[in-house]
Amino acid sequence: METPGSQSSLHRANLERVVRAVRLAGSLTQAEIARTTGLSAATVSNIVRELKDGGTVEVTPTSAGGRRARSVSLSGDAGMVIGIDFGHTHLRVALGNLAHKVLAEESEPLDVDASAAQGFDRAERLVGKLIEATGVDRSKVAGVGLGVPGPIDVESGTLGSTAILPGWAGTKPAEELKERLGVPVHVDNDANLGALGELVWGSGRGVKDLAYIKVASGVGAGLVISGRIYRGPGGTAGEIGHITLDESGPVCRCGNRGCLETFAAARYVLPLLQSSHGSDLTMERVVALAREGDPGCRRVIADVGRHIGSGVANLCNLLNPSRVVLGGALAEAGELVLAPIRESVGRYAIPSAARQLSVLPGALGHRAEVLGALALALSEMGDSTLLDGSLTAAAPAFT
Ligand SMILES: [Zn+2]
Repeated sequence: METPGSQSSLHRANLERVVRAVRLAGSLTQAEIARTTGLSAATVSNIVRELKDGGTVEVTPTSAGGRRARSVSLSGDAGMVIGIDFGHTHLRVALGNLAHKVLAEESEPLDVDASAAQGFDRAERLVGKLIEATGVDRSKVAGVGLGVPGPIDVESGTLGSTAILPGWAGTKPAEELKERLGVPVHVDNDANLGALGELVWGSGRGVKDLAYIKVASGVGAGLVISGRIYRGPGGTAGEIGHITLDESGPVCRCGNRGCLETFAAARYVLPLLQSSHGSDLTMERVVALAREGDPGCRRVIADVGRHIGSGVANLCNLLNPSRVVLGGALAEAGELVLAPIRESVGRYAIPSAARQLSVLPGALGHRAEVLGALALALSEMGDSTLLDGSLTAAAPAFT
């Protein structure tokens, strides 16, 4: 037993701080590690040497601000994480290592009428396929991040009602998959994972306060505050789609009237164009037509942007994020939707709340959620496992 406050327990705590900082960032220079952890440059240098000798980290020469520096990342073969994303039409799985390198990724169509058990079967099979294709050692898998398109009760892990996978309500997806895969599984909704994905790999790199707005069959936001996802005690934070824009507007699925969602989500927007553009229209098609110059589609996209901008302005007044990232199919519309968003923000947000804001399209497209699931697995895994080498000792029960 180590005595708390003793020399050896302090040293251990410092080791864990450095490993955690590198694990979350992917790679950092020694100076960045010192800044992130608050440890002195000399202490960081000693700890990095020790971790390198033990095979936990890799050190490669790099340059920072024109000066030579050493970039530290977790050793590529120290462990693996898996991301699984159940989207509204696809199941996506990615396999990555602890140095934030994506080693393999695959997706297949998912039938919305499929039962939860069928969905989990397919996820399990796809995970097995990626592990086999990359030849990685199954015992090195440290954890799984899982994305579902609906609200997750933070305490019980139960999936709430979701319009996208209606048969799945009431299931406990993380528990179910943990039983099948034999490793810890961490679950979150698609908007939060999109935010994490863009934060770690995409348009949110380098910022600590970010909102990721996803417009699809609904409108949701994933909020990152001071570098962490903010979920709220019930996991409901970020329901930007139900901000009231017009009290006497259309009735929303939540029972309220004139929510942002009723002015921006596909199910409300597509009918506006169906009499002129045909009934089999999708949001992807509207975006493509708008880019080709179709005036009706351009008008609809611009209106959607203006309304989203009102919601973003409210968000700015409350949270003062430095970046808003627009995800989903709508992001493909580029300036056709981003300019009206910025215009509304300029009109409705108080100037000081929007001064440092940049509104950008997501960089990851449909991969944002599955990469966010990888980031979730990376952020939730403990460092003691890594430092003790028990990742290899306790082989998980993959079949
Ligand atoms: Zn609503």
